[in-house]
Amino acid sequence: MMLRNHCHRLALSARLVAALLAALPIASHQRAHAQASGDPTAAAHTHAAERAIEFPDTPDYLSLTCDFHTHTVFSDGSVWPTIRVQEALRDNLDCIAITEHIEYQPHRDDIPHPDRNRAFDIATRAAANSELIVLLGSEITRSMPPGHSNAIFLTNANALLVDDVRAAFEAAGSQGAFTFWNHPNWTAQRKDGIARLEPLHESLIADGLLSGIEVVNEHTYSREALQIALDHDLAIIGTSDVHGIVDWDYHVPEGGHRPVTIVLAAARSAEGIRQALAERRTVVWHRNMLIGREAHVMPVVHASIRVTRAYYPGDTSVLRVEIENVSDAEFVLRNTSPYSFHKQGDLIMLPPHHTTVLDVKTLELLTGVRMTFEMLSVITAPGTHPVLELRVPVGE
Ligand SMILES: [Zn+2]
Ligand SMILES: [Zn+2]
Repeated sequence: MMLRNHCHRLALSARLVAALLAALPIASHQRAHAQASGDPTAAAHTHAAERAIEFPDTPDYLSLTCDFHTHTVFSDGSVWPTIRVQEALRDNLDCIAITEHIEYQPHRDDIPHPDRNRAFDIATRAAANSELIVLLGSEITRSMPPGHSNAIFLTNANALLVDDVRAAFEAAGSQGAFTFWNHPNWTAQRKDGIARLEPLHESLIADGLLSGIEVVNEHTYSREALQIALDHDLAIIGTSDVHGIVDWDYHVPEGGHRPVTIVLAAARSAEGIRQALAERRTVVWHRNMLIGREAHVMPVVHASIRVTRAYYPGDTSVLRVEIENVSDAEFVLRNTSPYSFHKQGDLIMLPPHHTTVLDVKTLELLTGVRMTFEMLSVITAPGTHPVLELRVPVGE
């Protein structure tokens, strides 16, 4: 009885699969046609567009998407380094760092790992025929203080395997590494989840041996870490710290995304990224929030959002404004303009890769309109959201 039921279900699902496969060419043809016809809503729904992480370049810099904190079986991760490269290529990242725990080696019985550069070497070979930039990193894994820190742009990770914690930071510094404080809010090391500096951190910062801080690690955001970054001129970093599979940890098939650091770089190269980090030009994307200094995040916002058309339809004074968002972030805005809207309230969503229509009651026919919004999904300091100002010329 059980077996027959099972077979019946199998036969049904086989028919379902056949039907879906038959429908596929039509669906992709429709998508291609919609893209060719310039329908902005249809183009957003292709599979590739949903998966690739996309932020537009700013007028001054390239917007490079980077994940500077990843693990493999060469420390406590669960995958071979080639999988990290394939995931990064699927996410259309520009750069990843492989950052194994230098001291913590739970797979040592199976993988003796005498050379701490091994995972990087394998990943580099896997990325050889792609555009992906792979950085050699290491996670200096210590109790608090200082906790865990990532050194990236290393030339030899083995040199960091020393007893004295300051000596490990100095070894990284002597290789020209960029070192940032990992998960300062980690409840295993801060039971209250609050990131706070200790004298050792302050001396490492003063000596140029600690230059960034994870404001976002894996699923967490730390507004206290953001304040530390602003107070001490540290780079604002967000990473996945992935140990398992990116798709499973971040629900990518359901529309989720891993945290990334958007690096505003003058060149698409490791050196371009290093220079940008030295000058703190970063924006973090996490759970649809964009987090960064106003001077860095606003150029990304302005490159992402543009008014494509504004006109008075028919014989009304209700202005139709079309706003396109070409980025992967959904922007959440609060209207602070003197105008009310015909369809929406004051909370406005601009979905990714989509054109949103706002019907603005301007009361009289204007030749141009100035609209302002508080950007609730953009954070420039703890509790601080920047203002988006749109100056809209009215056309036909
Ligand atoms: Zn860690
Ligand atoms: Zn880690």
